[in-house]
Amino acid sequence: MIKYKLICKDCNNLFDSWFSSSKEYEKLRKQKYLNCHICYSPNIEKTIMSPSILRSDNIPKVKINDDKYKKVKKIIYEHQKFIENNFKYVGENFAYEARSIHYEDKKKSKGIYGSASKEEIKELKEEGIETEIIPWIKNNNN
Ligand SMILES: [Zn+2]
Repeated sequence: MIKYKLICKDCNNLFDSWFSSSKEYEKLRKQKYLNCHICYSPNIEKTIMSPSILRSDNIPKVKINDDKYKKVKKIIYEHQKFIENNFKYVGENFAYEARSIHYEDKKKSKGIYGSASKEEIKELKEEGIETEIIPWIKNNNN
C-alpha cells in the first residue's frame, strides 16, 4: 500500500489517499476515478509536498576531520539553511503546531520545523500527519 498526498487542481484541496501501487494510482487517475472530496473535480494530482518537517537534535557524534563527513555536513547545512529560510521554527511546540495546521487546514501557512519526542511522532503518524525527520547539526565549527 502506498499513501499519496493528492491535490485538487481546481480548488487546491489537499487530501491523502491509499493505493495498492503507483500503477493503480495512474490507472485510476487516467480513468478519472479520482475525485476531489470537495468540488468533485477529476483534476487530481499527486503532490510531493510535505507540510511539516521534523527536526532531530539527537544525532550521533561523528569525527569531524573526515572528508566524507565534511561533504555530508555541507549538504545537511544547505538543507538546514533552506528549512530555516522557508519554514517557521516552532521548537518544542512542533506536535501542537503540526496538528493545528493539519486540522485547521491552514493552506497558506508556512511549513514548520521543530523538535518532538518519539511518542509525539508516533501519535502524529497515527493521526495521519506526515512528518519528516532530518538530521540537525549545529554550525559551531567554522
Ligand atoms: Zn476540488
